[in-house]
Amino acid sequence: MKPTPLIAGNWKMNFLPSEAVRWLESFVEQLELVPHQHADILLNAPFTHLLPLAELAEGTPVRIGAQDVSPHQAGAYTGEVSGPMLKDVGATFVIVGHSERRAYHAEDDTLVNAKIIAARTESLVPILCVGESEAQREAGEALPVVLGQLEADLQGVSLRSSGELVIAYEPVWAIGTGKTASADDAQEMCAAIRSALKRLFPRLADDMRVLYGGSMNPENAGELLSKPDVNGGLIGGASLKIDSLLAIIEAAA
Ligand code: PEP
Repeated sequence: MKPTPLIAGNWKMNFLPSEAVRWLESFVEQLELVPHQHADILLNAPFTHLLPLAELAEGTPVRIGAQDVSPHQAGAYTGEVSGPMLKDVGATFVIVGHSERRAYHAEDDTLVNAKIIAARTESLVPILCVGESEAQREAGEALPVVLGQLEADLQGVSLRSSGELVIAYEPVWAIGTGKTASADDAQEMCAAIRSALKRLFPRLADDMRVLYGGSMNPENAGELLSKPDVNGGLIGGASLKIDSLLAIIEAAA
């Protein structure tokens, strides 16, 4: 049986905290009017938004996550936010290794691996992002690049249950560009990721969630989410609009 789909928004650096609270109030009202019980719903918000959003989301179907975590638990790391801090304000998930952080903050696989371990230490569920660039895809290197990231990023990670880690296949060329991987290409890569997970976590991989991310929208979500190894979406631009996010949630049924 397919795992329950996870529809996860990545708000990136958008909305003021006060705007985010109004957005969530309105979203929760409208969510009640559409079928949504078939999916888990998550919003990954900036650090400053987490506390008010998590308080507001309590008792609703919406869960709140962060977009990054420090590899350190506490100490002299100016500007960093640790796993214990995220947990204390009510975050339950955290995006790790997003391609924007790999590109703009020089995050390499060693750092991403340390962040995954830091998140797990606090029982946060990491959403590990992996994906190839356009040049790598054109050179026929997409598969080894993605599987190489996966293996390096998950070194020494042990899991007790399938819900403790989520993988997001996010081809870099599809993020924020309006270009989407075809549903067949997304399925092929998500299936390859699951095969690699079977080697790492043999008992758990069939039930682990592998998401697709990259310009998912209400028009393409149904086809992408219908594929057997695509267990949800990590959604940037379209997660900022209530109508679009609700339509993607409906498409996951
Ligand atoms: C993302 O930021 O993870 C993402 C998939 O963005 P977008 O949906 O805008 O391409």
